[in-house]
Amino acid sequence: GAKERGRNRFAFYSSDMAERALERLHIEQGLLRAIANDQLMLQYQPVVRLDDGQLIGFEALIRWDEPTHGRIGPDRFIPVAEECGLIDYIGSWVLHTACTQAQAWIHQGFVDLRLAVNVSARQMNAGDFDVTVSDALALTGFPAAQLELEITESTLQAVDHSRQLLGRLKALGVRISIDDFGTGFSSLSRLKHLPIDRIKIDRSFVQDLPGDGNDAAITEAIIAMAGSLGLGLIAEGVETPAQQQFLLARGCTEAQGFLFSRPLDVADVDALIVSTARGRLS
Ligand code: C2E
Ligand code: MG
Ligand code: MG
Ligand code: MG
Repeated sequence: GAKERGRNRFAFYSSDMAERALERLHIEQGLLRAIANDQLMLQYQPVVRLDDGQLIGFEALIRWDEPTHGRIGPDRFIPVAEECGLIDYIGSWVLHTACTQAQAWIHQGFVDLRLAVNVSARQMNAGDFDVTVSDALALTGFPAAQLELEITESTLQAVDHSRQLLGRLKALGVRISIDDFGTGFSSLSRLKHLPIDRIKIDRSFVQDLPGDGNDAAITEAIIAMAGSLGLGLIAEGVETPAQQQFLLARGCTEAQGFLFSRPLDVADVDALIVSTARGRLS
């Protein structure tokens, strides 16, 4: 009867929840081992000029090299790290590691490279996040003006006093960009009052360009808005020459995506910088 089905359904959901809780616990314990055993690493995805593929800089992207399961992507473990609080440690490790690495690339001759680092809501709510950033800059010597912190619209929503915090970060000299732009709910009037330097058009709007009329309209609107607010713009997830052409024709000047390069290991970036002396990817 209905009761029985109800009970079964409940049993199904609850074992599903238990499975998820177990998986989370598993990941949490694994993350502690990952930290202790140096299994976290960064890849760097080139950011390029959209017209000629010239290299502008890199976005640092974290990975977990797990001995038995192989390389695990951030979508699988960053949410867990946020829930259990490990993100504070991991986030400052990312900042220090990326700034140290990028400082080495500056010394190799890529003097004006830009480095983007992703930051999550919990990190920014830690209270002394601006101190974490200024410590990373002081300890690594990386120039503040070349560091860009990527935050999402939902992070802005979730962070208390985000305007004040962004103000303190800007006072350090770093740049702020809004990641995955268009997927959240930030009102344009709110954005106007925040000290933001750049927005990144989310990959979900780019992937079906130029064919999808809605995505085309949204993308055009974002480009126009960035122009009138004086914000820089990066298109994420550019995979085809047709997407590149569409975006270029509408005034977007910078991009990331598999068309230009996947995220790279350090050695591959080293080679890229040496071989091109401020390389060009297209
Ligand atoms: P994100 O910051 O929006 O990063 C872009 C994601 O799109 C990356 O996935 C990148 O590998 C992928 N991507 C880039 N170009 C293309 C393309 O042309 N096609 C496709 N299909 N994908 C492309 P990834 O590395 O798996 O990172 C996922 C998310 O994890 C990031 O999204 C970011 O929100 C988060 N994340 C990564 N590293 C960190 C970190 O160090 N700290 C924090 N808090 N979050 C991080
Ligand atoms: Mg990002
Ligand atoms: Mg993004
Ligand atoms: Mg994202």
